[in-house]
Amino acid sequence: MKMLQTKSSLTIIFSLQLITGVPIIFDRGVDDYYWKLRADLLQSEESIAFGGDLHLDENEICANHILMCAKYKEIDEAFYNQREFLPRANFLTVQKKIEQSDVFKIIQKMPKGALLHAHDVATVSQEYVLWNVTYRPDLYVCDIEGKLKLQFFETPDKYCNWNLLSKLRVNASIENEINKRILNQMSMITDDPARAYSDGDKAWEKFQSLFEFLASFMRYKPVFEDYYYQLLKESYDDKIIYAELRTPLPTLYDLNGNKYKGLDVVTIIKDNVERFIEDHPGFHGVKLIYSKNRRVNKQQLNKYLKIYKQIKQAYPSFVAGFDLVGHEDKGPALKTFAEQLLPETQMQGFFHAGETDWYGLETDENLIDAVLLNAKRIGHGYALPKHPKLMEILKERDIAIELNPISNQVLNLVSDLRNHPASILFAENYPIVVSSDDPGLWGAKGLSYDFYEAFMGIMSRNSDLRALKKLALNSLLYSSISDDEMVKAFRIFEKQWQEFLSEMDEKFQP
Ligand SMILES: [Zn+2]
Repeated sequence: MKMLQTKSSLTIIFSLQLITGVPIIFDRGVDDYYWKLRADLLQSEESIAFGGDLHLDENEICANHILMCAKYKEIDEAFYNQREFLPRANFLTVQKKIEQSDVFKIIQKMPKGALLHAHDVATVSQEYVLWNVTYRPDLYVCDIEGKLKLQFFETPDKYCNWNLLSKLRVNASIENEINKRILNQMSMITDDPARAYSDGDKAWEKFQSLFEFLASFMRYKPVFEDYYYQLLKESYDDKIIYAELRTPLPTLYDLNGNKYKGLDVVTIIKDNVERFIEDHPGFHGVKLIYSKNRRVNKQQLNKYLKIYKQIKQAYPSFVAGFDLVGHEDKGPALKTFAEQLLPETQMQGFFHAGETDWYGLETDENLIDAVLLNAKRIGHGYALPKHPKLMEILKERDIAIELNPISNQVLNLVSDLRNHPASILFAENYPIVVSSDDPGLWGAKGLSYDFYEAFMGIMSRNSDLRALKKLALNSLLYSSISDDEMVKAFRIFEKQWQEFLSEMDEKFQP
């Protein structure tokens, strides 16, 4: 729509190419025709927006009514008191308030399909890690320059002044103090995120330190196995039926001095996924995206690609693809590895790309390489709306964007989620899936929190159940499951969806 000329407040000339596709010149006063054109324009925008192509049946219309009453109430009240609008505040400060939202409670009950962007060791809640993992026997602690290090041993090594954690915890005040420090070292949670993470680099510095802390004790094989089971349980409890997990395949250890690498680790994960499915037949399954830190050189990448080939050959349907992860602004650009990644025709890329607010720098251009390297999905794609040509290609080639709202906020790309660039992608119905990235590190669980932030803060006030349902449907459609598996996954989803509608109808009145 282009404004050609302004004559007066009552005489406006528009060139409109509305429903008929024929240009309409509007050159008259504000009469019924004006209001009809206005309504048509709004309707036209709604129909091309995310979810606009779905139709709700009778039961869905009832559920939508309940959902939208809650959404309008929450947004409209906040419009007059912006401090109350939760997506504008850092998630770390409003998590508990989100949990009280009626919209959030509905989203929690809603089936969400698949979790497509999550890093395995950052996906389980800290309460589980603290109360389950760190209370296990044989866990030792060492204090190095004010930082704790935890590791399981039969007999501790001599490289640190190790103390058995269970012994220290006999004293209640030490237990309290040490638990506080453990939580602090495995979480981004802080009372004042604006001060603690005043820029992206500071946020990433803390974020990366969490992985380093977790790595030494989470690699203990019995812990790693139970952790995977718990990851799937927390996902399943949040109405997720399938997951594609990014994993670096860390070297695991046990108390007998055994080490487990690469293919062994994939086998361990696969066995535990099967154990979970046996206990929860409604869960469809897992695939892995082998993901290594992008701060590597070409030789190291070759080594990883060799491991990728080996695990893909051993478990072709369990291993979905490859990715390079970590702080994109600080790592080598994707183009550095183009030659190595392109010939891997057997390799499906799921590249993190454009997770930056630096326009025109190399990280921003990673989006171009992700597309040229035939990515199936793009992790984050935060910078995408700055690249109109790429946006066209993405739509043509149906490449999905993995949007992680809370991660983008906690890692300081955007503070008020109303300013998240994905609003543009939702307005134009891009193939989007919403995911959670590293929920365990900021107190979230499953997908409900990120769905809430996307639905309330990034989508339009008018986006309704169709948009939420589309997020769930997209997560299955843009996953790596085969056509046969897809039929089964959709059967499970459809059953869950009908149960959700019945629950909304019969029990849930927010
Ligand atoms: Zn990620």
